[in-house]
Amino acid sequence: MTLSLAGAMPVLAQPDHRARERAILAELIEIDTGPTGKATTEAAEAMARHLVAAGLPADDVRVISVVPGIGNLVARYRGTGAGGRPILLMAHLDVVEALREDWSFAPFEFRERDGYYYGRGSSDNKAGIATLISTIIRYREEGFVPSRDLIIVLTGDEETSGDSIRLLLEQHRDLVDAEFALNTDAGGGELRDGRPIAFSVQTAEKVYLSFALEVRDDGGHSSVPGPSNAIYRLAAGLTRLAGFAFPVRLNETTRTFFDRAAEHQPADLARDMRALAREDDAAAASRLAAASPFYNATMRTTCVATGLSGGHAENALPQLARAVINCRMLPDDPAGEVEAALVRVLADPAITLSRIAPPVPSPASPLRADVVGPIEALVAEMWPGAVVVPEMSTGATDGAFTRNAGIPTYGVSAVFGALDDIRAHGRDERIGVEPYHRAAEFWYRLLKRLAS
Ligand SMILES: [Zn+2]
Repeated sequence: MTLSLAGAMPVLAQPDHRARERAILAELIEIDTGPTGKATTEAAEAMARHLVAAGLPADDVRVISVVPGIGNLVARYRGTGAGGRPILLMAHLDVVEALREDWSFAPFEFRERDGYYYGRGSSDNKAGIATLISTIIRYREEGFVPSRDLIIVLTGDEETSGDSIRLLLEQHRDLVDAEFALNTDAGGGELRDGRPIAFSVQTAEKVYLSFALEVRDDGGHSSVPGPSNAIYRLAAGLTRLAGFAFPVRLNETTRTFFDRAAEHQPADLARDMRALAREDDAAAASRLAAASPFYNATMRTTCVATGLSGGHAENALPQLARAVINCRMLPDDPAGEVEAALVRVLADPAITLSRIAPPVPSPASPLRADVVGPIEALVAEMWPGAVVVPEMSTGATDGAFTRNAGIPTYGVSAVFGALDDIRAHGRDERIGVEPYHRAAEFWYRLLKRLAS
């Protein structure tokens, strides 16, 4: 720790833990864990070294590979056990590809500029890793012994298959089993005009399921077309699908979302959000769905055409027409019912439907008072005025697998930013310096409360 003098008053410079949070984030960004560098094992080993240096027994810090070439870290900070079963703390080591020519600077070089830390993974999700590792080191330095085990799991393939978390749960359940999980890779805070207004807790994810549609036909010479045509039949079915919407159905998470998110909205929108949340008002639901694709996706299952191909020659009748439909199902929508609805809407037995990959169910996690309560209290202290909003993601994370394995999972990155400045997966990815260190402070305080 360094001291500097401002007038006669000694002023503390940045505390040590802040410098450490920055250094670990920088170290992680400079290890290329994208599809080109593939250095997830190297990153896992680097984080393992920090934990062992801080005094965790080497046996409790394991670099494990369950998919060839993919490194994961599972580390256990032991507690007394008086506070109950462990808490699982999640983040991922891998990042989305970043090409030098697409960026304003080298994506795997850490840099600080204008109040931001830059680099691939800075926000997704290396800040989360650095936060977890720094927090454990800080506890060790203080001699803080939690009342329950804290287990860190860092996976190496969240951005692609998610196989590592799935296999860790299947093959090493004893190492990662927990009463509930907190995920740094979801949730977050919204800044509007620099003011914190909402703090999201991700408690559910929509379920991903794609279908291949096919129409086959005898074909023939295009100079003598008959009544049957594979492309027309498929196109007609897709047109019927375009006019269809799945029914509106709220769950605990989305109902609370609409009710609370109303707080910072213009009066008309706020009225509709509350009418939907409290009375399932159908007219309010249609207005909200029309106002925002995100609101629409939050209130119902969606299925949309994302691919189309057909025919084999300019001068031949098509023998095959294909389309891809991508569905994002509500967590409690059975895949069989969604498929049956599609068959009904396509309304043509010539259009065959097949699932491209099996869905991973992800039941919504309940808004448990022993988890959400401490989060709300801490948000009120650290970001007064920000409303805590449960969130159902329209995309998916490793949390789908932990929920599916019976571990309720809460996404609470706690990193605030402006909604129009989300650069995860994009170019010149960055995270605000203050929001990052503030999130680290939140995790330090939160875990203490949940494990004291
Ligand atoms: Zn992520």
